[in-house]
Amino acid sequence: MFKRLFNELTLVFDLSPHGAPLLIKSGRESGADPTLLDMNFVRTIHPRTGKLTVFLPGSSLKGTLRSYCEKIARTVRPDGGREWCCNPFDLDAHSPTAFCGRRLEEETSAAARYAGSCVICRTFGNTRMGSHVALTDAYPQGELQLEQRNGVAIDRISGAVAAGPFNLEVVTRGTFRATLTLRNFQLWQVGLLTVALRDLGQGRVPIGFGKSKGFGRMTVTYRQLEVAYPGRFAFRSDGHDFSAELVDLVAFDFPCRAEYRLCPADPVSLPLPTDEREVVEDGTFGRVAVRWTNAEAIETILKSTAGHWRVCALGEWPPQGEESDE
Ligand SMILES: [Zn+2]
Repeated sequence: MFKRLFNELTLVFDLSPHGAPLLIKSGRESGADPTLLDMNFVRTIHPRTGKLTVFLPGSSLKGTLRSYCEKIARTVRPDGGREWCCNPFDLDAHSPTAFCGRRLEEETSAAARYAGSCVICRTFGNTRMGSHVALTDAYPQGELQLEQRNGVAIDRISGAVAAGPFNLEVVTRGTFRATLTLRNFQLWQVGLLTVALRDLGQGRVPIGFGKSKGFGRMTVTYRQLEVAYPGRFAFRSDGHDFSAELVDLVAFDFPCRAEYRLCPADPVSLPLPTDEREVVEDGTFGRVAVRWTNAEAIETILKSTAGHWRVCALGEWPPQGEESDE
């Protein structure tokens, strides 16, 4: 099924330190190099400017979101067990909390791997199944304020650190722009990610180094949301208006669908606000897409999926799926 793309949601958002320093460690220690601090912010070449810049690696944002989503899942259903939310660090296949990737290692059917995976693996993937979520590296928008923290006196003449265990390079002000893409999704997955992003934006999900020191608390600002349906030459088809509906994966037809045991979705689509929407692609090239850049409209769309997450969280797991009519 996942060789084909049915629906795609792309969310662009800004992350800014919220009254707390931010440090994503580069893993590069000063060693013998006196120009480097003990802990430096991770840097890379900016793909547009070609210059060295600090950035937030997509992999660390995804890791943070994944582990926070695990926390949400275990909180709403504390006794859900490994089928509901596995422990990615538990590699004992027979353990009651075994990682789905380990538990499904011998499973040869893609549908059975999906059906047997927990809510988190169905969203973020595992060693036996690709992720439905992707996050790009987040680059600074405009100027950042970089500071040195906990840096005890540096001897100005010798350049050596006079005393103190660490000095850290932190970002205290500025904005990083991230892009999250969710493909072949169910509406409950949008709901789950919406809860995680809300909490991230309220400083409840610190990122990077020094969480216990209060580092890494962020604000989130939604910039753009695009909803796309690849492979369509018109907005109106298969009984849907794809310019005005957020359609759950369960609404699409694909081989062996019943075996995937998707969560039931009622309704199978949610209305999208039609004011302020911008048509990005009208199907001329076999893809339709609409976009919003108004933060309030984006928030309304994301929040509308809350009911689907609630049904998933309170409903039967693993889902019984639909009756196969094949
Ligand atoms: Zn899992």
